[in-house]
Amino acid sequence: MGILIQNGTILTMHNRKIIRGGAIAIEDKTIIDVGKTHELKRKYGRGYEKINAKGKIVIPGLINTHQHAAMSLLRGYADDLPLNEWLEKWIWPIEKHMSPHDIYVGALLTAMESIMGGTTTVNTMYHYKPEENEAKAFADAGLRGVIGHVCFSWRKKEDKKALRDLTKKWHNKIDGLIRTSVDPHAPYTVDPEYLKELKEIKNELNEKYGSEETPIIQHIHVAETVDEPEKIQEVFNIQLKNGVMTYLDSFGVLDKQVIAVHCVALTDKDIETIKKRNVKVSHNPISNLKLASGISPVPKMLKKGITVSLGTDSPCSNNSADMFETMKTAAILHKGINRNPTLMPAEQILEMATIEGAKALSWENEIGSIDVGKKADLAIISTKKPHLCPLHSEISHLVYAAKASDVETVVINGKIVMENKKVTTLNMEKVMEEVEKVKNNLLSKLDVNVK
Ligand SMILES: [Zn+2]
Repeated sequence: MGILIQNGTILTMHNRKIIRGGAIAIEDKTIIDVGKTHELKRKYGRGYEKINAKGKIVIPGLINTHQHAAMSLLRGYADDLPLNEWLEKWIWPIEKHMSPHDIYVGALLTAMESIMGGTTTVNTMYHYKPEENEAKAFADAGLRGVIGHVCFSWRKKEDKKALRDLTKKWHNKIDGLIRTSVDPHAPYTVDPEYLKELKEIKNELNEKYGSEETPIIQHIHVAETVDEPEKIQEVFNIQLKNGVMTYLDSFGVLDKQVIAVHCVALTDKDIETIKKRNVKVSHNPISNLKLASGISPVPKMLKKGITVSLGTDSPCSNNSADMFETMKTAAILHKGINRNPTLMPAEQILEMATIEGAKALSWENEIGSIDVGKKADLAIISTKKPHLCPLHSEISHLVYAAKASDVETVVINGKIVMENKKVTTLNMEKVMEEVEKVKNNLLSKLDVNVK
């Protein structure tokens, strides 16, 4: 018994191949066949659950390569502030009071929002708690994810314990749906010695729990703002030349399993270093604009052949998990500031949100495109909407006109997690009720009730 999606326009994201009147056969977790509907119907007719995608677009599920899923609880809590003030005066003081259950509930909300917007994989960096955590939330929602524990110099012992527990309990678990990562917060909050140690821990954990096909990766914020080199110099009393990425490379912590987020303030040497070490990049245009951090030199990196993926960042620096918004913003932002409308065309943007996202997470052997043998992670988008009419180009519509709310059905790991806009794994009303409860409880714990 499997699933047969039929009569759709399939954007495979493999060599930009499009199949009209196409079908996808799924068995268990895996795509077992892709082709024309009339051919697949003959082979997989009986016993297969049918999904009619007539007049709809089928894409590989979108891959959000930077999130802090639990922070949805703080969506709209503090806006319009500089990054330092926002983090130090607003976000970190309230996060201190977050219980494991709060983290679970916040991540559940992000998981639900992600699924509803056609996102099937989320790379999230947050505080891991053994009792309840983001991994449990994603597993309960049926969302694929890389779950990281964020590390800081001031809590090394606690971090190391959390990393070991997280990896042991969750890496490559839930039918391969959940993977884990080692997440140094940023070069200005993690000292060089600890950065080196965390890379060693990543290697050790890979030997014990990972493999070449299922690696434990590293996820870190890098060069988010132009004053980051100054901050590093000040905090660690270090002389820094040639940019933050080059600084990181000087003590050997960069490799192909590192995903560097933001990469706004890069030197030319930094870009060369990213290329040389095959570091992957997560571009978060909306968060960078909202926090006025600056604009990442993405076209330059793409020209060099660097893997650049897309992320939303946290629900309080974006403030949504909508990857359609992120795709459009990335496309128009770089055209605008470079005064060049030919930069970052729609096809390339859609690749950044799918197959390049998979590469950024070292997961392209299983996700990111619609290919036989890959895991069935798919989103089906309705085009019967005024804003998607008339239809000249599916790719154009997806990047420039579609919204998260146009996604109708979502399959992750071969399981239908949303059908005709109804999430099958969670009770939406109950989750939202619990979020409000948790939010009010959290606010009541603050020393001074600021709101
Ligand atoms: Zn972030």
